[in-house]
Amino acid sequence: MSSSAPIGVLGGTFDPVHYGHLRLAEELAGALKLDEVRFIPSGTPPHRSAPRVSPEHRLEMARLATAGNARFKVDERESRRAGPGYTFDTLSELRVEAGGARPLALLVGADAFLEFATWHRWHELFGLAHVVVAHRPGFPVERWSERMPQPLAREYSARLMQQPLSIHLSPAGGIAVVAFTALDISATAIRDMLRAGASPRYLLPGAVLDYIQARRLYS
Ligand code: ATP
Repeated sequence: MSSSAPIGVLGGTFDPVHYGHLRLAEELAGALKLDEVRFIPSGTPPHRSAPRVSPEHRLEMARLATAGNARFKVDERESRRAGPGYTFDTLSELRVEAGGARPLALLVGADAFLEFATWHRWHELFGLAHVVVAHRPGFPVERWSERMPQPLAREYSARLMQQPLSIHLSPAGGIAVVAFTALDISATAIRDMLRAGASPRYLLPGAVLDYIQARRLYS
């Protein structure tokens, strides 16, 4: 990590990775002038039921999906970790690797951000990274913030940066909201289609679908 431009961190189960994830990474990388986006597939996620396929498959699908984009990197650390992989541990390691000054930006969808106050040591995450929320254009942010639990709403109003590019000016601690093209795609819907024998083609990269079909994953 030699540059000083911010690194974006996109964690998820990626069960499987789809175009919603890729557009989120692409648009936020552009809007925030990120040097790279790290896709970090989870091992055994702490917040939810076990993913349908193994960390190795999810990692390989993330590699296939991001191949050909020089800014996108796949990070294996959570996949290799035994037991729950907490974002706090991942960001702590990335902070050491990046040095104290380089901005880190944790990229989350608005749905994931509303759950943020349930994350392990969530309050300390602001000491490690900025949090950038990908928001659907046209959705009123004020109404959205009403749906946050009180402790999160307090942090949100104290840390909100009016200008998302301000993440370049400090290593961590801000919240930015960036509008992006909403794609109503979820891994759940893709898994349901595969189970029902319907085609999820064009909702995810062809190479990922080929990988799934060759191994009969999710069927
Ligand atoms: P599932 O349907 O299994 O819950 P998912 O499609 O929501 O999965 P995750 O791996 O849980 O995918 O998501 C990782 C991150 O990507 C989260 O921050 C989530 O908010 C975001 N994300 C997922 N799908 C979209 C989408 N269509 N548009 C924007 N962000 C998304």
